[in-house]
Parts: sequence; C-alpha cells; structure tokens
Amino acid sequence: MIQNCDSCGTRSTDYSEIKCPKCGEKIYRCRHCKSNMVRYACKKCGFEGP
Ligand SMILES: [Zn+2]
Ligand SMILES: [Zn+2]
Repeated sequence: MIQNCDSCGTRSTDYSEIKCPKCGEKIYRCRHCKSNMVRYACKKCGFEGP
C-alpha cells in the first residue's frame, strides 16, 4: 500500500505508521523523514511533533 508521507508529501511504500499522541489519528512518515526526525503535523488536530 502506498501512502503519502505527512512530513514531505512523498508517496512511498516504505513508511512507518504512528499515531498522533493527541488525537490518535494515523500519521505516515517515510523512512527518510523518520530517520531525519522531520517535523510532522497531524491533519486532524494540528498537533506538531518530531
Ligand atoms: Zn517524508
Ligand atoms: Zn492529532
């Protein structure tokens, strides 16, 4: 399954899935963004995290 990375927008099959610590919404991050700790923003509640 292909997902858009929520940090950089890249479409990738190599991503990790995390849950927003605030609202529990699923957030997808590609391997690049995860290893570089790129910031993400939750689409649902706007929470930003590393
Ligand atoms: Zn990314
Ligand atoms: Zn959220």
